[in-house]
Amino acid sequence: MLAMDYRGPKRVRAVQKPMPEIKHPQDAIVKVLRTCICGSDLHLYNGNVPDTRVGTTFGHEFVGEIVEVGSEVTKVKVGDRVIVPFNIACGECHFCRQGMYGNCHESNTEASAVGAIFGYSHTAGGYDGGQAEYARVPYANVGPTIIPEGMDLDDAVLLTDVVPTGYQAAEMAGIQTGDTVVVFGAGPIGIMAARCAWLFGAGRVIIIDQEDYRLEFARNYSYCEAYNFKEMNDPVVFIKKTTDWMGADVVIDAVGAEAAGNTMQTITGRKLLLQAGSATALHWAINSVKKGGVVSIVGVYGPTDNLIPIGNVLNKGLTIRGNQASVKRLLPRLIEHVQNGTLNPKGLITHRMPLAEVADGYRMFSAKLDNCIKTVLIP
Ligand code: NAD
Ligand code: ZN
Repeated sequence: MLAMDYRGPKRVRAVQKPMPEIKHPQDAIVKVLRTCICGSDLHLYNGNVPDTRVGTTFGHEFVGEIVEVGSEVTKVKVGDRVIVPFNIACGECHFCRQGMYGNCHESNTEASAVGAIFGYSHTAGGYDGGQAEYARVPYANVGPTIIPEGMDLDDAVLLTDVVPTGYQAAEMAGIQTGDTVVVFGAGPIGIMAARCAWLFGAGRVIIIDQEDYRLEFARNYSYCEAYNFKEMNDPVVFIKKTTDWMGADVVIDAVGAEAAGNTMQTITGRKLLLQAGSATALHWAINSVKKGGVVSIVGVYGPTDNLIPIGNVLNKGLTIRGNQASVKRLLPRLIEHVQNGTLNPKGLITHRMPLAEVADGYRMFSAKLDNCIKTVLIP
């Protein structure tokens, strides 16, 4: 089968690989119908995620048709078209039982903080991903969710990650009616978080990025104010000034490690990590939120960042929340939002290309060429 293949930092290609096989009675094999490139894939692409092995197939955003199931799979059958959440979750551990599917205690045998994620290095379980014609889906009784009759596959594929992550960013922020919400990062995740902030009762939504085309897109898609931080002396002062010097009620970080401009280095083996430098968007978030406010982090960071202004967190009485999105928990209500038209996921898609052109897809998304927001690959 054709599959994306990682060769090293900034080197990916499409090659023929062996078909995935059922390895456990609860596995299913999915024929991939749509798959996306995510901002999270860029951390891998740039070589910033420890233990990303050459030969790995990335891709944690995919939908497809079940073509084979293991002997213990009862919840889905051959022929079903399914949304596959990016988290691999056992469904039965302490965390899954609370709906924390992104924090599954069983799926990641590498025992890192995070549960397993498709195609996201051996730090996140070492499973191959869905940027391929076929993918092995473990715990198939848990994650795969039937695509409702009539739902566009382009909407469905964004329910694997972008929509739940944007929604959970707004949910974790604990937005109260009338709140001013600031979102750092106008990538697909930030744009979706800004859009979802209104669902929680925001009174004002501001998004901040450095790419004018993304800001323009966000203005139209998320009905928000949008500003370029390169045109400000200091984004923290800008936000304070526009909120009567109070600060924003809540701030969402949808940037993550990109802004840090640094690499996570492996010191010993792959378990101990050092991230030198500072996380710009997170600093701005902590310093521009009001006293007693909430900072909601969905941007992905390495395990440590030693320059967080933690004293300001203490002195301002802040609440900081972060997590990988718990896709499975959110799917029922998000499917409803798509069906009744309150959310329009496929409106984020700017590019569609064959899987064979995956290398071009990464190059374009990474360099933000051709006004790219979200790229869908079609196997
Ligand atoms: P993306 O790379 O398309 O978007 C990031 C945006 O941040 C870019 O537009 C960039 O110009 C902007 N940016 C960079 N530095 C900035 C700064 N200092 N202030 C404001 N904006 C800045 O990525 P994406 O697909 O939108 O994903 C965003 C983040 O969310 C990534 O870190 C990704 O790994 C993470 N993510 C997390 C989850 C989760 O479950 N928590 C899921 C998906 C993605
Ligand atoms: Zn993703």
